[in-house]
Amino acid sequence: PSPVDPTRRLMLRIVPYGDEQYLMLIRDVTRLHRLQAMRRDFVANASHELRSPLTVLGGYLDSMVEDRDLDPAWRAPVRQMRAQCQRMNNLVNDLLELSRLETEESDAPMDSPVDMPALIRRLGRDAVLADAEAHPLDIDIETERCLHGVENELYSALSNLVINAFRYSEAERPVSVRWHEADDGGLVFEVQDRGVGIDRRHLPFITQRFYRVDSSHSRAQGGTGLGLAIVKHVLKRHGAELDVESEPGVGSIFRCVFPSERACATRQRRSSAV
Ligand code: ADP
Repeated sequence: PSPVDPTRRLMLRIVPYGDEQYLMLIRDVTRLHRLQAMRRDFVANASHELRSPLTVLGGYLDSMVEDRDLDPAWRAPVRQMRAQCQRMNNLVNDLLELSRLETEESDAPMDSPVDMPALIRRLGRDAVLADAEAHPLDIDIETERCLHGVENELYSALSNLVINAFRYSEAERPVSVRWHEADDGGLVFEVQDRGVGIDRRHLPFITQRFYRVDSSHSRAQGGTGLGLAIVKHVLKRHGAELDVESEPGVGSIFRCVFPSERACATRQRRSSAV
């Protein structure tokens, strides 16, 4: 037999065939796998290369906006350019984060205890500071239980959900966040808004990259179309599920449901002994 090629990928499926028999299908997905890896690398490299020029452009545009001597005819276009530059920056950051999450080799250790109540409180403070329309944010932490996982990934996923709740609700509509334990010992992070809601025919697609129900509204609100794709990947890495309930004109509830095996009692404090 030829030596085993470690880069070879095979997909195995077992399907029922009649009453007592099964068919085993083996598909060679090596080419597909390589193409996906090439796409991921290309997106990651291109986003990385775009970062520096965008930082330089953004810096000059910031100074021009502040410049009192700027020709008044240039004020509006310069503001527009700065807003577009900011949008590109958000997009590049989201693309980088998504390709990092998609790369299998990037697996950070998934077993550090993350103090979820503290993370959610910090997230609430940051979100309120960033929210120009000042939606009231109600945070209800019903359990002090924590999770084994990756802190910055969890922060990024949960903040994407809170930002969306603000983004797709009219100014001053309240948003509620809840952290609680499910009956089976799993842990649930829940965000509820009273915003535009999502028609049920769109629900199966909203976690696909660049899928938007109303792209002009999303763009106008600074959305990149990648937020829920990031959420989906982070949850998948943590063995969790995203559950969405929504009604157009009434609002939405996004729930991240973490399995009980990920739960831990409290964050292990570092020993203070010297
Ligand atoms: P975006 O950057 O466009 O917000 P997301 O991936 O975060 O991208 O979300 C995908 C789409 O799902 C959004 O464009 C929006 O149409 C819809 N969506 C997400 N969250 C909500 C919400 N809380 N209420 C209503 N629609 C939402």
